[in-house]
Amino acid sequence: MSKVLIIGAGGVGRVTTIKCAQHPQVFSHIMLASRTKSKCDEIAADARKRTGHQKIETAAVDAENVPQLVELIRSFQPELVIHVALPYQDLTIMDACLETGVHYLDTANYEPKEEAKFEYSWQWAYQDRFREKGICAVLGCGFDPGVTGVFTARAAKHHFDEIHYLDIVDCNGGDHGKAFATNFNPEINIREITQKGKYWENGQWVETEPFEFKKSLNYPNIGARNSYLLYHEELESLVKNFPSIKRARFWMTFGDEYLTHLRVIENIGMSRIDPVIYNGVEIVPLQFLKAVLPDPGDLGENYTGETSIGCRIKGIKNGQEKTYYIYNNCSHQAAFDETGAQGVSYTTGVPAMTGAMMMLQGEWMKKGVFNVEEFNPDPFLDKLGGHGLPWTELHDIDLEL
Ligand code: NDP
Repeated sequence: MSKVLIIGAGGVGRVTTIKCAQHPQVFSHIMLASRTKSKCDEIAADARKRTGHQKIETAAVDAENVPQLVELIRSFQPELVIHVALPYQDLTIMDACLETGVHYLDTANYEPKEEAKFEYSWQWAYQDRFREKGICAVLGCGFDPGVTGVFTARAAKHHFDEIHYLDIVDCNGGDHGKAFATNFNPEINIREITQKGKYWENGQWVETEPFEFKKSLNYPNIGARNSYLLYHEELESLVKNFPSIKRARFWMTFGDEYLTHLRVIENIGMSRIDPVIYNGVEIVPLQFLKAVLPDPGDLGENYTGETSIGCRIKGIKNGQEKTYYIYNNCSHQAAFDETGAQGVSYTTGVPAMTGAMMMLQGEWMKKGVFNVEEFNPDPFLDKLGGHGLPWTELHDIDLEL
C-alpha cells in the first residue's frame, strides 16, 4: 500500500495513471500533477471511471521549480515519484526527490532545452547523493529505453554467456490517418530523430548522418518495413553494463510520407530550437510547430495496426554461436480501448507502472541511480504480459542484420 506521485498529464501520464489505478493494492493513493491541472482532472475522472479507484488526487505544479515540487511532495508524502512529463525536468525532479528523500523513476534521460543532446552523464552524476540519502532512482523505464534494457538483461541472464551483437528494432506499423503527426511529444521526437546517428562498434561510437543507413526488416504480424539507424539513449547504458557487446545499434521504421514531411520541416527552418523574433515576440520555431501539429494524445481513436519493438541478439552460449529475438507487439486499438491512449503512450506507461511496482514491492530497490538492466529482469517480465504487454522469444533464427 503506497502513495505515488505521477508528474506529467500527457499521453504517457494518462496510461501510467490508469494502469496504477488498476492496482490499488500497490498504488493505494495516487496524485497526478502537471503544469495544467485541468488535464490532470480529466485523466483522474477517466481513471476513476475505468478502474473504480477513488483515491486519485490532482495538483498543478511547475516541474522546473524545485521549491514548488518540494512543497507538493511534502504535502502529499509519496514513497515514489514517477516522472512522465518531459526530459527537461529530470534534474529538477531528482533534486526535489533528494531534498525530500523520495524514490524516483522516469522514462527518458535528461536533455537541456537549448541543445538537442541527450546523455546519461547528468543523471549518473546523482549516484553518490542518492546513495547517501538512501533512495533509489530508476532511469529510462518506458519501452525504449526500458523494456529493451530488460529484454537484454534477460538474454544475458538466461540465454547467452556473452552478447556480441545487439540490434534494437522499433517498428510502428500503425496508421493514424493523418498526413503528418508524431506519436509522442513532437518537440522531443523531432529533436531526437533529426540529430546525427551513432552506434557502438569495437569499443567506440561511430557517428552517422541522419537517416544514412536503411534496411528493410521484417516485423512479426506487420511485414517488411524500411528501418533507419539512429541513436537512442539506451545504447549508452547497455554497452556500459554489458561490456561483451561488440556492436550495438538502434533501428526505427519511418514511412516515406513521414520522411518527406520531416525534410520539408527541416528545410524551411521549422525544426530550429533557437528563438526567432516574430512580430516583436520571441518564438522557438519547433515549439510553434508543436502547437499546430496533431496532439499525439488525440491520435488514438482511429489508430489501427500494431507496434513491434524488440531486441535481436547474436552471441555465444556454451561455446556455440546463437541468435535470439525477443519482442512485444502492441495493438493501438486495444491500447485505446483500455486507456483512451494510442500504442506508443501505452507501451511507455505500462512499463513505467510495472517498474514502479517493482520498486514499491522491493524487487527493484537499491540505493543510488540505476538503469533498468541493472535489476533482476525476471519479476518485471513475469508481470509485464499480464499488465498488457506480452512478449515472445524466438531462438536460432535469421536476424536479417
Ligand atoms: P506529452 O507532451 O503528451 O506530455 C508531457 C506532459 O508534461 C504535458 O502534459 C505537460 O503538461 C507536462 N509538462 C511539460 N512541462 C512541464 C512542467 N514544466 N511542469 C509540469 N508539467 C510539465 O508527452 P508524452 O506523454 O508523449 O511523453 C512523456 C514522456 O515520456 C516524455 O519524456 C517522453 O520523452 C517519454 N517517452 C518515453 C518513451 C520510452 O519508450 N521510453 C516513449 C515515448 C515517450 P501540461 O500539458 O500540463 O502543460
